[in-house]
Amino acid sequence: MDPSEDRCECCGRSGVETTIHHLTPKEYGGVKLPTALLCIPCHRHIHHLFTNKQLIDLELTTISALQLNPAMQSFIRWIRKTPPGTIPKSRKSRNVRRRR
Ligand SMILES: [Zn+2]
Ligand SMILES: [Zn+2]
Repeated sequence: MDPSEDRCECCGRSGVETTIHHLTPKEYGGVKLPTALLCIPCHRHIHHLFTNKQLIDLELTTISALQLNPAMQSFIRWIRKTPPGTIPKSRKSRNVRRRR
């Protein structure tokens, strides 16, 4: 088994490849603050839905806050049904694209 395979703290799926997410974006002082291990689809979805500034403004700096966000909830409900290893096509929301 691939040693990088782990459990996603956001959707709770196991056997997925995880990446480190800075719960407080690094540019907002999150370098030494808690991180979370997220599967690639969850991680990418968070950054497609929200800009780093919005993560701060909306206080989405904990896993539970992210899980309670309505946009993330519908995503989590959906991703839980997909097998590990599926990398869904995801597009940046207009909101994020506009600000970059
Ligand atoms: Zn996940
Ligand atoms: Zn991240």
